Amino acid sequence: MASKRTDISTPIGRVRPAVDALPAYKPGKTAEQAARQQSISDVVKLTSNENPYPPPAVVVEAAAQACRGSNLYCDHSATELREALAQRLGLAISQVTVGSGSAALLYQLVKAFVDPGDEVISPWISFEAYPIAVQLMAGNLVRVPLNTNHAFDLNAVAEAVTPRTKLVLLANPNNPTGTAVTTSALARFVESIPADVLVLVDEAYREFADSALGDPITDLLPRFDNVGIVRTFSKAYGLAGLRVGYMMAHQQVIAAVNKCAVPFSVSSAAQAAALAALSNDAAAEVHQQVAAITAERSRMVSALAANGWDIPEPQGNFLWLALGDRSSEVCRGLEQRGVVIRPFPGVGIRVTVGTPAQNDRFLKALTDTAAIQP
Ligand SMILES: *Cc1c(COP(=O)(O)O)cnc(C)c1O
Repeated sequence: MASKRTDISTPIGRVRPAVDALPAYKPGKTAEQAARQQSISDVVKLTSNENPYPPPAVVVEAAAQACRGSNLYCDHSATELREALAQRLGLAISQVTVGSGSAALLYQLVKAFVDPGDEVISPWISFEAYPIAVQLMAGNLVRVPLNTNHAFDLNAVAEAVTPRTKLVLLANPNNPTGTAVTTSALARFVESIPADVLVLVDEAYREFADSALGDPITDLLPRFDNVGIVRTFSKAYGLAGLRVGYMMAHQQVIAAVNKCAVPFSVSSAAQAAALAALSNDAAAEVHQQVAAITAERSRMVSALAANGWDIPEPQGNFLWLALGDRSSEVCRGLEQRGVVIRPFPGVGIRVTVGTPAQNDRFLKALTDTAAIQP
């Protein structure tokens, strides 16, 4: 017989131990939260690597148009969007899928391949969604330390592979350090590990990176059946709030990933917006935004260098200051000056490249924060 619990220490239902042990995902602090905490009105939020510019008008228009048909389910297979992506990337449609953000595709991939006790390897520090996705499946995330340049030590990653290893997750450029490796380095790495270990190259920041690093779609996918790639509309295309990511891999991997999708997970508005974002009408503006962000990135690196900061060369839309033990203190100092960044306590702070005015606020706040010597 059902009853209301009387003792709050009595668990409700029988939650899986893997879920019970999981910390809740902590999104970056919102500007409003910080403003309230610090009693400041003009807070700039540089926490979540968002694009500071809204999407092109044609993209917003396409989403609005799609909303008019929201009484109907969207196309579960997102056929038109997948076709557009496949064509643009020179792939078969069976090699491409889309998800509710690339984070959803990452979760689906882990769900499809990781059994309890299986190992997933990631260089560390890296994207904070990785441990959550892996722990949800009761898998074991093996963290391989970055090298002294805050970049991947791919030899060490290869050495960490065991017979229990199912997946290797490589955020390239890496979040939060912003460093990146070339596709030739990735090819040597993939050659050095067993062919039944999947390697996911997470290119959430690809559009901001130096194109000389190579393109895994042309450089790796044709050569290696065990390589997958995820990209997103969230960062360069400014569609973080609409949730669309895409994955490219061998059709067998894509089929497995698709089986793990929540039905109709990419809404019709999101599909329409992504399609419009790929169109020629949006291309110039998207390109211009990315150029503005990378130009600002260079300006910030120079300004920091002039003040004695030596930071790893950023390849994403964010900067990494490896402050170690001072990270939380610096974060607090910046916040008191109305600049919210993402702290990684004991390791460093990650600062999103915003508009010129936002970036100036950050640079000034960093200089003004007491006791901050590079
Ligand atoms: C932001 C980010 C993503 C997730 O983006 P979605 O919005 O889910 O597409 C994935 N990987 C890395 C490394 C990121 O920083």
